Amino acid sequence: MPASSLEQIVSLAKRRGFVFPSSAVYGGLGSTWDYGPLGVELKNNVKRAWWRSVVYDRDDMEGLDAAILMNRLVWKYSGHEATFSDPMTDCRSCKARPRADHVFAAQKGRDPINVAEINAAIEAKELKCPKCGATDLTPARPFNLMFKTTVGPVDTGDDSGLAYLRPETAQGIFVNFGNILDTMRRKLPFGVAQIGKAFRNEITPGNFTFRTREFEQMEIEYFVKPGEDEAAHQSWIDARTQWYVDLGMRRENLRQREQTKDELAHYAKRCVDLEYRFPMGWSELEGIANRTDYDLKAHSRSPENPDAVGELRYFDQEQKKHIVPYVIEPSAGADRATLAFLCDAYDESLVKEPPAEETAKLRELVLSFAKSVDKRDPKQMETATKERLVAAAEKIAAALPGSLPELLGLADDADANRIEVWKKVRGAAEKLGEEHTRTVLRLNPKLSPITVAVFPLKKNEPRLVETARGIKRDLQRAGLRTVYDDTGAIGKLYRRQDEVGTPFCITVDFQSLDDQTVTVRDRDTMGQERVGITDLGAALRAKV
Ligand code: ATP
Repeated sequence: MPASSLEQIVSLAKRRGFVFPSSAVYGGLGSTWDYGPLGVELKNNVKRAWWRSVVYDRDDMEGLDAAILMNRLVWKYSGHEATFSDPMTDCRSCKARPRADHVFAAQKGRDPINVAEINAAIEAKELKCPKCGATDLTPARPFNLMFKTTVGPVDTGDDSGLAYLRPETAQGIFVNFGNILDTMRRKLPFGVAQIGKAFRNEITPGNFTFRTREFEQMEIEYFVKPGEDEAAHQSWIDARTQWYVDLGMRRENLRQREQTKDELAHYAKRCVDLEYRFPMGWSELEGIANRTDYDLKAHSRSPENPDAVGELRYFDQEQKKHIVPYVIEPSAGADRATLAFLCDAYDESLVKEPPAEETAKLRELVLSFAKSVDKRDPKQMETATKERLVAAAEKIAAALPGSLPELLGLADDADANRIEVWKKVRGAAEKLGEEHTRTVLRLNPKLSPITVAVFPLKKNEPRLVETARGIKRDLQRAGLRTVYDDTGAIGKLYRRQDEVGTPFCITVDFQSLDDQTVTVRDRDTMGQERVGITDLGAALRAKV
Protein backbone atom coordinates (compact mmCIF):
# COMPACT_ATOMS: atom_id res chain seq x y z
CA MET A 1 0.00 0.00 0.00
CA PRO A 2 1.53 3.38 -0.97
CA ALA A 3 1.71 6.24 1.54
CA SER A 4 -1.68 7.88 1.92
CA SER A 5 -0.25 10.89 3.70
CA LEU A 6 3.01 12.79 3.70
CA GLU A 7 3.17 12.20 7.48
CA GLN A 8 3.99 8.54 6.86
CA ILE A 9 7.01 9.58 4.80
CA VAL A 10 8.06 12.25 7.32
CA SER A 11 7.78 9.74 10.15
CA LEU A 12 9.84 7.08 8.39
CA ALA A 13 12.38 9.67 7.28
CA LYS A 14 12.91 10.85 10.84
CA ARG A 15 12.78 7.42 12.48
CA ARG A 16 15.26 5.85 10.12
CA GLY A 17 17.79 8.64 9.66
CA PHE A 18 16.85 10.08 6.27
CA VAL A 19 15.78 13.60 7.20
CA PHE A 20 15.70 15.43 10.54
CA PRO A 21 14.14 18.79 11.40
CA SER A 22 17.01 21.28 11.42
CA SER A 23 18.37 22.80 14.68
CA ALA A 24 16.01 20.60 16.71
CA VAL A 25 18.02 21.11 19.93
CA TYR A 26 16.89 24.76 19.84
CA GLY A 27 13.33 24.01 18.83
CA GLY A 28 14.05 23.93 15.09
CA LEU A 29 13.82 26.52 12.34
CA GLY A 30 10.58 26.34 10.40
CA SER A 31 10.75 24.33 7.18
CA THR A 32 14.47 23.61 7.24
CA TRP A 33 15.67 20.04 7.19
CA ASP A 34 18.93 18.15 7.61
CA TYR A 35 19.66 15.03 5.58
CA GLY A 36 20.78 12.26 7.94
CA PRO A 37 23.15 9.33 7.25
CA LEU A 38 20.72 7.54 4.91
CA GLY A 39 19.18 10.68 3.41
CA VAL A 40 22.52 12.04 2.26
CA GLU A 41 23.26 8.75 0.49
CA LEU A 42 19.84 8.73 -1.20
CA LYS A 43 20.08 12.34 -2.33
CA ASN A 44 23.67 11.84 -3.53
CA ASN A 45 22.51 8.82 -5.54
CA VAL A 46 19.73 10.90 -7.12
CA LYS A 47 22.23 13.62 -8.03
CA ARG A 48 24.75 11.09 -9.35
CA ALA A 49 22.09 9.37 -11.47
CA TRP A 50 21.10 12.75 -12.92
CA TRP A 51 24.71 13.75 -13.66
CA ARG A 52 25.41 10.38 -15.27
CA SER A 53 22.34 10.66 -17.46
CA VAL A 54 22.67 14.29 -18.56
CA VAL A 55 26.48 14.66 -18.70
CA TYR A 56 28.30 11.31 -19.02
CA ASP A 57 25.79 9.42 -21.15
CA ARG A 58 25.61 12.20 -23.74
CA ASP A 59 28.16 13.76 -26.06
CA ASP A 60 26.71 17.24 -26.13
CA MET A 61 26.96 18.28 -22.47
CA GLU A 62 29.46 19.85 -20.08
CA GLY A 63 29.34 20.29 -16.30
CA LEU A 64 29.76 23.42 -14.19
CA ASP A 65 29.89 24.42 -10.52
CA ALA A 66 29.43 28.20 -10.30
CA ALA A 67 29.65 30.26 -7.11
CA ILE A 68 26.56 30.89 -4.99
CA LEU A 69 27.51 34.55 -4.51
CA MET A 70 27.58 36.50 -7.74
CA ASN A 71 27.87 40.11 -8.82
CA ARG A 72 24.64 41.83 -7.93
CA LEU A 73 24.29 43.01 -11.53
CA VAL A 74 23.60 39.41 -12.57
CA TRP A 75 20.32 39.64 -10.66
CA LYS A 76 19.60 43.12 -11.92
CA TYR A 77 19.84 42.16 -15.59
CA SER A 78 18.28 38.71 -15.19
CA GLY A 79 15.18 40.53 -13.97
CA HIS A 80 15.19 38.96 -10.50
CA GLU A 81 15.69 42.22 -8.58
CA ALA A 82 12.60 43.73 -10.14
CA THR A 83 10.27 40.80 -10.57
CA PHE A 84 11.23 37.75 -8.49
CA SER A 85 8.51 38.28 -5.95
CA ASP A 86 5.22 36.97 -4.60
CA PRO A 87 2.22 39.27 -4.00
CA MET A 88 1.36 39.55 -0.28
CA THR A 89 -1.62 41.04 1.45
CA ASP A 90 -2.02 41.99 5.12
CA CYS A 91 -5.19 41.41 7.10
CA ARG A 92 -5.85 44.62 9.05
CA SER A 93 -8.05 42.71 11.46
CA CYS A 94 -5.89 39.75 12.60
CA LYS A 95 -2.48 40.81 11.17
CA ALA A 96 -2.10 37.61 9.12
CA ARG A 97 -0.01 37.99 5.94
CA PRO A 98 -1.14 35.44 3.35
CA ARG A 99 -0.10 35.21 -0.30
CA ALA A 100 -2.67 37.21 -2.21
CA ASP A 101 -2.59 35.00 -5.32
CA HIS A 102 -3.28 31.93 -3.17
CA VAL A 103 -6.19 33.65 -1.42
CA PHE A 104 -7.63 34.61 -4.81
CA ALA A 105 -7.19 31.11 -6.28
CA ALA A 106 -8.72 29.38 -3.23
CA GLN A 107 -11.73 31.67 -3.07
CA LYS A 108 -12.41 32.25 -6.77
CA GLY A 109 -11.56 28.75 -7.95
CA ARG A 110 -9.02 29.94 -10.54
CA ASP A 111 -5.65 31.67 -10.69
CA PRO A 112 -5.68 35.48 -10.99
CA ILE A 113 -4.56 36.99 -14.31
CA ASN A 114 -2.40 39.64 -12.65
CA VAL A 115 -1.98 41.66 -9.44
CA ALA A 116 -4.44 44.31 -10.70
CA GLU A 117 -7.18 41.68 -10.78
CA ILE A 118 -6.34 40.58 -7.22
CA ASN A 119 -6.45 44.16 -6.02
CA ALA A 120 -9.78 44.80 -7.72
CA ALA A 121 -11.21 41.81 -5.83
CA ILE A 122 -9.71 43.05 -2.54
CA GLU A 123 -11.14 46.52 -3.15
CA ALA A 124 -14.59 45.04 -3.86
CA LYS A 125 -14.32 43.07 -0.55
CA GLU A 126 -14.68 39.83 -2.49
CA LEU A 127 -11.69 38.19 -0.77
CA LYS A 128 -11.60 37.09 2.85
CA CYS A 129 -8.66 36.61 5.19
CA PRO A 130 -8.11 32.80 5.28
CA LYS A 131 -7.38 33.02 9.03
CA CYS A 132 -10.14 35.20 10.48
CA GLY A 133 -12.56 35.72 7.59
CA ALA A 134 -12.39 39.55 7.61
CA THR A 135 -12.52 41.36 4.25
CA ASP A 136 -10.26 44.15 5.49
CA LEU A 137 -7.22 43.25 3.37
CA THR A 138 -4.51 45.64 2.16
CA PRO A 139 -3.71 45.84 -1.57
CA ALA A 140 -1.25 43.16 -2.62
CA ARG A 141 2.40 44.19 -2.49
CA PRO A 142 5.37 42.39 -4.01
CA PHE A 143 7.68 40.60 -1.57
CA ASN A 144 11.07 39.78 -3.09
CA LEU A 145 12.12 36.19 -2.53
CA MET A 146 15.88 36.72 -2.71
CA PHE A 147 17.90 36.49 0.51
CA LYS A 148 20.17 39.48 0.93
CA THR A 149 23.63 39.38 2.41
CA THR A 150 26.61 41.71 2.68
CA VAL A 151 29.96 41.06 1.03
CA GLY A 152 32.98 42.47 2.85
CA PRO A 153 33.92 42.95 6.50
CA VAL A 154 31.46 45.71 7.42
CA ASP A 155 27.88 46.55 6.70
CA THR A 156 28.31 50.07 5.35
CA GLY A 157 24.63 50.84 5.64
CA ASP A 158 24.29 51.54 1.89
CA ASP A 159 23.95 49.05 -0.94
CA SER A 160 27.65 48.91 -1.89
CA GLY A 161 28.25 45.48 -0.34
CA LEU A 162 24.83 44.06 -1.16
CA ALA A 163 24.77 40.57 -2.62
CA TYR A 164 22.16 37.86 -2.90
CA LEU A 165 22.20 34.16 -2.16
CA ARG A 166 21.36 32.86 -5.64
CA PRO A 167 17.68 31.94 -6.03
CA GLU A 168 18.49 29.59 -8.93
CA THR A 169 21.63 28.02 -10.38
CA ALA A 170 20.71 28.89 -13.98
CA GLN A 171 22.25 32.37 -14.08
CA GLY A 172 25.66 30.90 -13.21
CA ILE A 173 25.45 28.94 -16.46
CA PHE A 174 24.37 31.89 -18.61
CA VAL A 175 27.18 34.14 -17.44
CA ASN A 176 29.70 31.33 -18.10
CA PHE A 177 28.42 30.69 -21.63
CA GLY A 178 31.39 32.44 -23.24
CA ASN A 179 33.95 30.69 -21.00
CA ILE A 180 32.61 27.25 -21.84
CA LEU A 181 32.32 28.00 -25.54
CA ASP A 182 35.92 29.26 -25.67
CA THR A 183 37.55 26.55 -23.58
CA MET A 184 35.64 23.46 -24.69
CA ARG A 185 35.52 24.24 -28.45
CA ARG A 186 31.82 23.41 -28.57
CA LYS A 187 29.52 23.69 -31.56
CA LEU A 188 25.78 24.17 -31.25
CA PRO A 189 23.80 22.40 -30.01
CA PHE A 190 25.40 21.80 -26.63
CA GLY A 191 24.36 22.15 -23.02
CA VAL A 192 25.70 22.81 -19.55
CA ALA A 193 24.55 20.99 -16.41
CA GLN A 194 24.91 22.17 -12.85
CA ILE A 195 23.86 20.95 -9.41
CA GLY A 196 23.88 23.34 -6.48
CA LYS A 197 22.17 25.10 -3.65
CA ALA A 198 19.58 27.80 -4.25
CA PHE A 199 17.81 30.00 -1.72
CA ARG A 200 14.37 31.56 -1.80
CA ASN A 201 12.68 33.33 1.07
CA GLU A 202 9.46 31.45 0.31
CA ILE A 203 6.34 32.88 1.93
CA THR A 204 4.68 29.54 2.29
CA PRO A 205 7.26 26.79 2.58
CA GLY A 206 5.97 23.41 3.63
CA ASN A 207 5.00 19.88 2.72
CA PHE A 208 8.23 18.55 4.22
CA THR A 209 11.15 19.00 1.79
CA PHE A 210 8.85 19.84 -1.13
CA ARG A 211 9.14 23.59 -0.63
CA THR A 212 11.94 24.93 1.56
CA ARG A 213 13.94 28.14 1.70
CA GLU A 214 17.25 26.40 1.04
CA PHE A 215 17.26 23.65 -1.56
CA GLU A 216 19.29 22.08 -4.32
CA GLN A 217 18.62 22.39 -8.00
CA MET A 218 19.74 20.25 -10.91
CA GLU A 219 19.61 22.53 -13.92
CA ILE A 220 20.51 22.30 -17.59
CA GLU A 221 20.80 25.09 -20.11
CA TYR A 222 20.84 23.62 -23.59
CA PHE A 223 21.90 26.02 -26.35
CA VAL A 224 20.53 25.55 -29.86
CA LYS A 225 20.26 27.43 -33.14
CA PRO A 226 17.02 29.38 -33.38
CA GLY A 227 14.70 27.22 -35.47
CA GLU A 228 16.01 24.03 -33.91
CA ASP A 229 14.63 24.96 -30.50
CA GLU A 230 11.21 23.31 -30.70
CA ALA A 231 12.52 19.86 -31.59
CA ALA A 232 15.25 20.10 -28.93
CA HIS A 233 12.67 21.17 -26.35
CA GLN A 234 10.45 18.17 -27.10
CA SER A 235 13.38 15.79 -26.95
CA TRP A 236 14.38 17.11 -23.50
CA ILE A 237 10.78 16.76 -22.26
CA ASP A 238 10.83 13.12 -23.37
CA ALA A 239 14.32 12.42 -22.01
CA ARG A 240 13.65 13.94 -18.61
CA THR A 241 10.36 12.06 -18.22
CA GLN A 242 12.09 8.81 -19.13
CA TRP A 243 14.82 9.44 -16.54
CA TYR A 244 12.31 9.26 -13.69
CA VAL A 245 10.67 6.17 -15.19
CA ASP A 246 14.02 4.41 -15.71
CA LEU A 247 14.77 4.96 -12.03
CA GLY A 248 11.61 3.14 -11.07
CA MET A 249 9.04 5.92 -10.73
CA ARG A 250 5.61 4.62 -11.63
CA ARG A 251 4.44 6.10 -14.93
CA GLU A 252 0.90 6.61 -13.59
CA ASN A 253 2.30 8.89 -10.88
CA LEU A 254 4.05 11.13 -13.39
CA ARG A 255 2.45 13.53 -15.86
CA GLN A 256 3.42 16.31 -18.23
CA ARG A 257 1.48 19.53 -17.84
CA GLU A 258 1.62 22.17 -20.54
CA GLN A 259 1.77 25.67 -19.00
CA THR A 260 -1.06 27.90 -20.21
CA LYS A 261 -0.42 31.21 -21.97
CA ASP A 262 -1.28 33.08 -18.75
CA GLU A 263 1.25 31.10 -16.73
CA LEU A 264 4.14 31.38 -19.21
CA ALA A 265 6.94 33.80 -18.37
CA HIS A 266 6.88 36.67 -20.88
CA TYR A 267 10.08 35.49 -22.58
CA ALA A 268 9.17 31.80 -22.72
CA LYS A 269 7.89 30.22 -25.90
CA ARG A 270 6.65 27.03 -24.24
CA CYS A 271 7.02 25.36 -20.83
CA VAL A 272 6.06 21.89 -19.72
CA ASP A 273 5.99 20.97 -16.04
CA LEU A 274 6.69 17.39 -15.05
CA GLU A 275 4.38 16.71 -12.13
CA TYR A 276 4.39 13.90 -9.60
CA ARG A 277 1.36 12.62 -7.72
CA PHE A 278 2.60 13.41 -4.19
CA PRO A 279 0.37 12.37 -1.25
CA MET A 280 -0.82 16.02 -1.13
CA GLY A 281 -1.73 16.00 -4.83
CA TRP A 282 -0.16 16.55 -8.26
CA SER A 283 2.73 19.01 -7.86
CA GLU A 284 5.68 20.24 -9.90
CA LEU A 285 8.79 18.12 -9.96
CA GLU A 286 10.62 19.84 -12.77
CA GLY A 287 9.97 22.62 -15.27
CA ILE A 288 11.23 22.34 -18.86
CA ALA A 289 11.11 25.69 -20.63
CA ASN A 290 12.06 27.14 -24.00
CA ARG A 291 13.49 30.48 -22.81
CA THR A 292 14.35 31.71 -26.34
CA ASP A 293 17.38 34.03 -26.53
CA TYR A 294 16.21 36.10 -23.56
CA ASP A 295 18.93 35.26 -21.03
CA LEU A 296 22.00 35.50 -23.24
CA LYS A 297 20.72 38.81 -24.63
CA ALA A 298 19.94 40.11 -21.13
CA HIS A 299 23.58 39.60 -20.08
CA SER A 300 25.04 41.08 -23.32
CA ARG A 301 26.17 44.65 -23.70
CA SER A 302 23.40 46.73 -25.24
CA PRO A 303 21.65 50.07 -24.73
CA GLU A 304 19.55 48.31 -22.05
CA ASN A 305 22.62 46.80 -20.41
CA PRO A 306 25.61 49.19 -20.40
CA ASP A 307 27.21 47.22 -17.51
CA ALA A 308 27.96 43.99 -19.38
CA VAL A 309 31.52 43.73 -20.68
CA GLY A 310 30.67 41.99 -23.95
CA GLU A 311 28.19 39.94 -25.89
CA LEU A 312 27.16 36.36 -25.23
CA ARG A 313 26.82 35.02 -28.76
CA TYR A 314 28.03 32.31 -31.11
CA PHE A 315 29.75 32.48 -34.49
CA ASP A 316 27.85 30.29 -36.92
CA GLN A 317 30.36 28.96 -39.48
CA GLU A 318 27.64 28.02 -41.98
CA GLN A 319 25.97 31.39 -42.01
CA LYS A 320 29.27 33.21 -41.40
CA LYS A 321 27.68 35.45 -38.81
CA HIS A 322 27.09 35.80 -35.08
CA ILE A 323 23.85 34.45 -33.68
CA VAL A 324 22.35 34.37 -30.18
CA PRO A 325 21.40 30.77 -29.36
CA TYR A 326 18.02 29.82 -27.99
CA VAL A 327 17.99 28.07 -24.62
CA ILE A 328 16.08 25.01 -23.47
CA GLU A 329 16.05 24.75 -19.67
CA PRO A 330 15.16 21.51 -17.87
CA SER A 331 15.17 22.66 -14.25
CA ALA A 332 14.71 20.04 -11.53
CA GLY A 333 14.94 20.03 -7.74
CA ALA A 334 17.22 17.46 -6.08
CA ASP A 335 15.16 17.57 -2.88
CA ARG A 336 11.85 17.27 -4.70
CA ALA A 337 13.09 14.39 -6.83
CA THR A 338 14.40 12.66 -3.70
CA LEU A 339 11.05 13.15 -1.95
CA ALA A 340 9.16 11.85 -4.99
CA PHE A 341 11.35 8.73 -5.19
CA LEU A 342 10.76 8.15 -1.46
CA CYS A 343 6.99 8.51 -1.84
CA ASP A 344 6.92 6.28 -4.89
CA ALA A 345 8.98 3.55 -3.22
CA TYR A 346 7.04 3.53 0.05
CA ASP A 347 5.06 0.35 0.54
CA GLU A 348 3.50 -0.52 3.85
CA SER A 349 1.25 -3.50 4.34
CA LEU A 350 -0.42 -5.55 6.99
CA VAL A 351 1.25 -8.95 6.81
CA LYS A 352 -0.70 -10.64 9.56
CA GLU A 353 -4.16 -9.82 10.92
CA PRO A 354 -3.87 -8.84 14.63
CA PRO A 355 -6.23 -10.59 17.12
CA ALA A 356 -9.69 -8.97 17.09
CA GLU A 357 -9.54 -7.92 20.76
CA GLU A 358 -6.28 -6.02 20.23
CA THR A 359 -7.75 -4.20 17.24
CA ALA A 360 -10.85 -3.33 19.29
CA LYS A 361 -8.70 -1.97 22.11
CA LEU A 362 -6.73 0.20 19.73
CA ARG A 363 -9.93 1.45 18.08
CA GLU A 364 -11.28 2.53 21.47
CA LEU A 365 -8.04 4.38 22.23
CA VAL A 366 -8.14 6.19 18.87
CA LEU A 367 -11.75 7.22 19.44
CA SER A 368 -11.00 8.47 22.95
CA PHE A 369 -8.17 10.49 21.44
CA ALA A 370 -10.67 12.00 18.96
CA LYS A 371 -12.94 12.91 21.89
CA SER A 372 -10.11 14.59 23.83
CA VAL A 373 -9.16 16.62 20.77
CA ASP A 374 -12.76 17.66 20.26
CA LYS A 375 -13.01 18.87 23.86
CA ARG A 376 -9.91 21.06 23.59
CA ASP A 377 -10.49 24.74 24.19
CA PRO A 378 -10.11 26.65 20.87
CA LYS A 379 -7.61 28.88 22.70
CA GLN A 380 -5.37 25.84 23.20
CA MET A 381 -5.79 24.35 19.76
CA GLU A 382 -6.87 26.02 16.50
CA THR A 383 -10.21 24.84 15.13
CA ALA A 384 -8.62 23.77 11.83
CA THR A 385 -6.10 21.58 13.69
CA LYS A 386 -8.84 20.05 15.81
CA GLU A 387 -10.92 19.25 12.76
CA ARG A 388 -7.95 17.72 10.97
CA LEU A 389 -7.07 15.43 13.89
CA VAL A 390 -10.65 14.38 14.63
CA ALA A 391 -11.32 13.58 10.97
CA ALA A 392 -8.08 11.59 10.68
CA ALA A 393 -8.73 9.67 13.91
CA GLU A 394 -12.31 8.79 12.98
CA LYS A 395 -11.29 7.65 9.52
CA ILE A 396 -8.48 5.52 10.94
CA ALA A 397 -10.68 4.05 13.70
CA ALA A 398 -13.28 2.96 11.15
CA ALA A 399 -10.72 1.19 8.97
CA LEU A 400 -8.57 -0.62 11.57
CA PRO A 401 -6.57 -2.84 11.34
CA GLY A 402 -6.06 -1.96 7.64
CA SER A 403 -5.41 1.68 8.55
CA LEU A 404 -2.64 0.78 11.01
CA PRO A 405 0.09 2.06 8.64
CA GLU A 406 -1.74 5.39 8.41
CA LEU A 407 -1.99 5.57 12.20
CA LEU A 408 1.74 4.91 12.50
CA GLY A 409 2.34 7.73 10.03
CA LEU A 410 0.66 10.12 12.44
CA ALA A 411 2.83 8.97 15.38
CA ASP A 412 5.16 11.97 15.26
CA ASP A 413 2.48 14.55 14.50
CA ALA A 414 3.35 17.52 16.73
CA ASP A 415 -0.31 18.49 17.31
CA ALA A 416 -1.40 14.96 18.16
CA ASN A 417 1.47 14.72 20.64
CA ARG A 418 0.01 17.63 22.60
CA ILE A 419 -2.90 15.38 23.64
CA GLU A 420 -2.17 13.19 26.68
CA VAL A 421 -3.93 10.04 25.46
CA TRP A 422 -1.91 10.09 22.20
CA LYS A 423 1.07 8.53 23.99
CA LYS A 424 -1.08 5.46 24.73
CA VAL A 425 -2.45 5.33 21.16
CA ARG A 426 1.06 5.61 19.82
CA GLY A 427 2.49 2.93 22.09
CA ALA A 428 -0.30 0.46 21.25
CA ALA A 429 -0.08 1.20 17.52
CA GLU A 430 3.68 0.79 17.44
CA LYS A 431 3.49 -2.53 19.27
CA LEU A 432 0.85 -3.85 16.88
CA GLY A 433 2.72 -2.42 13.89
CA GLU A 434 5.96 -4.07 14.93
CA GLU A 435 4.29 -7.48 14.92
CA HIS A 436 1.87 -7.19 12.04
CA THR A 437 3.04 -4.75 9.37
CA ARG A 438 5.95 -4.66 6.96
CA THR A 439 7.32 -1.45 5.49
CA VAL A 440 9.45 -1.72 2.40
CA LEU A 441 11.07 1.05 0.43
CA ARG A 442 11.03 -0.39 -3.07
CA LEU A 443 13.76 1.95 -4.28
CA ASN A 444 15.61 1.24 -7.48
CA PRO A 445 18.91 -0.36 -6.30
CA LYS A 446 20.80 2.49 -7.99
CA LEU A 447 19.16 4.90 -5.54
CA SER A 448 19.11 2.81 -2.35
CA PRO A 449 21.22 4.42 0.40
CA ILE A 450 22.66 0.99 1.22
CA THR A 451 23.11 -1.64 -1.48
CA VAL A 452 24.12 -4.60 0.65
CA ALA A 453 23.85 -5.40 4.36
CA VAL A 454 25.91 -8.27 5.79
CA PHE A 455 24.94 -10.13 8.98
CA PRO A 456 26.59 -12.95 10.93
CA LEU A 457 24.03 -15.52 12.09
CA LYS A 458 25.50 -15.26 15.60
CA LYS A 459 27.40 -12.25 16.83
CA ASN A 460 29.29 -14.16 19.52
CA GLU A 461 30.79 -16.58 17.01
CA PRO A 462 34.13 -14.98 16.00
CA ARG A 463 34.53 -16.99 12.79
CA LEU A 464 31.11 -15.85 11.52
CA VAL A 465 31.79 -12.24 12.50
CA GLU A 466 35.19 -12.25 10.86
CA THR A 467 33.85 -13.71 7.61
CA ALA A 468 30.94 -11.23 7.55
CA ARG A 469 33.25 -8.27 8.19
CA GLY A 470 35.57 -9.49 5.44
CA ILE A 471 32.68 -9.67 2.97
CA LYS A 472 31.61 -6.15 3.95
CA ARG A 473 35.12 -4.83 3.30
CA ASP A 474 35.47 -6.57 -0.05
CA LEU A 475 32.08 -5.51 -1.40
CA GLN A 476 32.63 -1.93 -0.30
CA ARG A 477 35.99 -1.94 -2.08
CA ALA A 478 34.23 -3.30 -5.17
CA GLY A 479 32.13 -0.12 -5.18
CA LEU A 480 28.92 -1.40 -3.58
CA ARG A 481 27.71 0.57 -0.56
CA THR A 482 27.79 -2.13 2.11
CA VAL A 483 27.16 -2.14 5.85
CA TYR A 484 27.75 -4.73 8.59
CA ASP A 485 25.14 -5.23 11.30
CA ASP A 486 24.88 -7.66 14.19
CA THR A 487 22.59 -5.75 16.51
CA GLY A 488 19.58 -8.05 16.36
CA ALA A 489 18.12 -11.36 15.27
CA ILE A 490 18.26 -11.96 11.50
CA GLY A 491 14.47 -11.45 11.02
CA LYS A 492 14.64 -8.08 12.70
CA LEU A 493 17.70 -7.05 10.70
CA TYR A 494 15.89 -7.95 7.44
CA ARG A 495 12.92 -5.80 8.49
CA ARG A 496 15.16 -2.83 9.25
CA GLN A 497 16.90 -3.06 5.90
CA ASP A 498 13.56 -3.44 4.06
CA GLU A 499 12.40 -0.25 5.71
CA VAL A 500 15.34 1.73 4.31
CA GLY A 501 15.23 0.12 0.88
CA THR A 502 18.36 -2.09 0.96
CA PRO A 503 17.93 -4.46 -2.00
CA PHE A 504 20.23 -7.26 -0.78
CA CYS A 505 21.01 -8.81 2.59
CA ILE A 506 23.72 -11.41 3.10
CA THR A 507 23.74 -13.82 6.01
CA VAL A 508 26.87 -15.68 7.01
CA ASP A 509 25.98 -18.97 8.75
CA PHE A 510 27.83 -22.12 9.82
CA GLN A 511 27.50 -23.66 6.36
CA SER A 512 29.45 -20.64 5.06
CA LEU A 513 32.46 -21.77 7.05
CA ASP A 514 32.35 -25.20 5.39
CA ASP A 515 31.54 -24.41 1.78
CA GLN A 516 32.33 -20.68 1.41
CA THR A 517 28.76 -19.81 0.36
CA VAL A 518 26.35 -17.32 1.94
CA THR A 519 22.62 -16.61 1.73
CA VAL A 520 21.65 -13.65 -0.40
CA ARG A 521 18.14 -12.44 0.34
CA ASP A 522 16.25 -10.25 -2.15
CA ARG A 523 14.18 -7.39 -0.68
CA ASP A 524 11.36 -7.56 -3.23
CA THR A 525 10.85 -11.28 -3.72
CA MET A 526 12.09 -12.18 -0.20
CA GLY A 527 13.64 -15.16 -2.03
CA GLN A 528 16.97 -16.49 -0.79
CA GLU A 529 19.76 -18.13 -2.74
CA ARG A 530 23.20 -19.43 -1.86
CA VAL A 531 26.07 -17.73 -3.60
CA GLY A 532 29.81 -18.41 -3.39
CA ILE A 533 31.64 -15.71 -1.43
CA THR A 534 34.08 -15.14 -4.28
CA ASP A 535 31.20 -14.66 -6.76
CA LEU A 536 29.32 -12.11 -4.62
CA GLY A 537 30.79 -8.93 -6.10
CA ALA A 538 30.07 -9.91 -9.70
CA ALA A 539 26.64 -11.38 -8.92
CA LEU A 540 25.44 -8.30 -7.00
CA ARG A 541 26.91 -5.78 -9.40
CA ALA A 542 25.06 -7.50 -12.24
CA LYS A 543 21.79 -6.94 -10.35
CA VAL A 544 22.50 -3.29 -9.63
P1 ATP B 1 7.08 26.24 -7.57
O1 ATP B 1 6.04 26.72 -8.56
O2 ATP B 1 6.82 24.87 -7.02
O3 ATP B 1 7.45 27.25 -6.54
P2 ATP B 1 8.93 27.18 -9.44
O4 ATP B 1 8.16 27.08 -10.71
O5 ATP B 1 9.13 28.47 -8.79
O6 ATP B 1 8.40 26.09 -8.41
P3 ATP B 1 11.44 26.89 -10.68
O7 ATP B 1 11.87 28.26 -10.47
O8 ATP B 1 11.02 26.47 -12.06
O9 ATP B 1 10.32 26.50 -9.65
O10 ATP B 1 12.58 25.91 -10.13
C1 ATP B 1 12.86 24.68 -10.74
C2 ATP B 1 12.75 23.52 -9.77
O11 ATP B 1 13.43 23.82 -8.56
C3 ATP B 1 11.33 23.20 -9.34
O12 ATP B 1 10.69 22.39 -10.29
C4 ATP B 1 11.58 22.46 -8.04
O13 ATP B 1 11.91 21.10 -8.29
C5 ATP B 1 12.79 23.16 -7.48
N1 ATP B 1 12.35 24.17 -6.48
C6 ATP B 1 11.95 25.43 -6.70
N2 ATP B 1 11.64 26.06 -5.56
C7 ATP B 1 11.85 25.16 -4.57
C8 ATP B 1 11.73 25.19 -3.14
N3 ATP B 1 11.34 26.30 -2.51
N4 ATP B 1 12.03 24.09 -2.44
C9 ATP B 1 12.45 22.96 -3.06
N5 ATP B 1 12.59 22.86 -4.39
C10 ATP B 1 12.30 23.95 -5.15
